[in-house]
Amino acid sequence: MILSLDEKITREQQKQLMERLEWMGLHAVLLEDQGKPGIAIVQGGDALVDFSQFKALPFVEKVAAFTHPYKLASRQVKPQKTVISVKGKTIGGEELAIMAGPCSIESEEQIFSSARIVASQGATFLRGGAFKPRTSPYAFQGMGEAGLQLLQKAGATYGLVTISEVMDASQIDLVANYSDLLQIGARNMQNFSLLKQLGRVKNPVMLKRGLSATYQDLLMSAEYILNAGNPHVILCERGIRTYETYTRNTLDLAAVPILQELSHLPVIIDPSHGVGIRRFVTPMARAAVAAGADGIMVEVHPEPTKAFSDADQTLSPEEFTVLMQTLREIAPVLKRRV
Ligand code: PEP
Ligand code: MN
Repeated sequence: MILSLDEKITREQQKQLMERLEWMGLHAVLLEDQGKPGIAIVQGGDALVDFSQFKALPFVEKVAAFTHPYKLASRQVKPQKTVISVKGKTIGGEELAIMAGPCSIESEEQIFSSARIVASQGATFLRGGAFKPRTSPYAFQGMGEAGLQLLQKAGATYGLVTISEVMDASQIDLVANYSDLLQIGARNMQNFSLLKQLGRVKNPVMLKRGLSATYQDLLMSAEYILNAGNPHVILCERGIRTYETYTRNTLDLAAVPILQELSHLPVIIDPSHGVGIRRFVTPMARAAVAAGADGIMVEVHPEPTKAFSDADQTLSPEEFTVLMQTLREIAPVLKRRV
């Protein structure tokens, strides 16, 4: 339930109202970001209490029911888009968030050379996994903390904002200590105990869509993080499983306008995992920007064929250069920039 409040309400009166709602056994969240003050009652408000009780509360002008099961992620509580800022770079703003780098951090030389390529082309986010979710237990599992240290060093050297995956709740503080953004992988999208723990860090979290998750499933998972107290959530479409086997996954670009309509959270497209075939990554990255995505995540490696993981879908420095050149031309049509 959403309560719209009288603009004249003071901070102290808002606090008193919140205390009263909590006393009524409800879990309420202050909405300060929509031009007009409001309160979202995210838990306990729908079944237990009737509307008229809320209308009788001081400063309450209007009472509305939620139209979707996700609440804090919905446009209903926040009509305007969320713009996330990290170290002066934004995700969801006019500038596209271009996240690029290797699938896995492999060595100092590899991550530094990747960072140099990424920065030289004007991208602002450096990706690299230190904890890797591999289908086979015998495949390279990532460098762990040593890799995170290298990622942090490479990011700082080239002025790039970093992003790295957290696979388990026990890794949250470690990854959050070295990496600016945390990535939750597709296989963990519905690891609810992990999602709940992400409320304790300040780092923005990029949540990747699960292999068989609907938009609503993805938004409900985002809701877990928001409800846990971390408002900096980014949604990422990275392809879903369909009957098509030619590509690694089926990249669902309809996710861009649909998620942006349903939610205020930024939407990033990952065409690398989305198609899994190097030569199709660039066209799909262009299409993602043309569809209005807030940014892209692509895998880039100084020598893609030698990559420890996801070699087949990783762009070479030359391919990444061409991609960035064309994105620079496409972006202004959408009133965005690179
Ligand atoms: C990755 O980004 O390298 C990754 C493992 O992604 P996903 O969780 O989308 O498979
Ligand atoms: Mn990968």
